[in-house]
Amino acid sequence: MASYDLKCSGCGRQFEVFVQGFLKDQHRVCPDCGGSEVEQLFTGFMMGSMGARDSVACASAPPSGCSHAGFG
Ligand SMILES: [Zn+2]
Repeated sequence: MASYDLKCSGCGRQFEVFVQGFLKDQHRVCPDCGGSEVEQLFTGFMMGSMGARDSVACASAPPSGCSHAGFG
């Protein structure tokens, strides 16, 4: 189960959806106005697509061997 932060382009409403697997178009619907013009916000663990791979490698390595230990 993963959670995604979304924002409606129509009314500006920000909301969160819980999805089993990947986000699909059917999840991109605003609960307020029902609009489908919804953009995905990247927050929390998604600190940018380029750093994602490093974060994963870091998580699977022991803290002492992680060169990114100072992050955060
Ligand atoms: Zn909306």
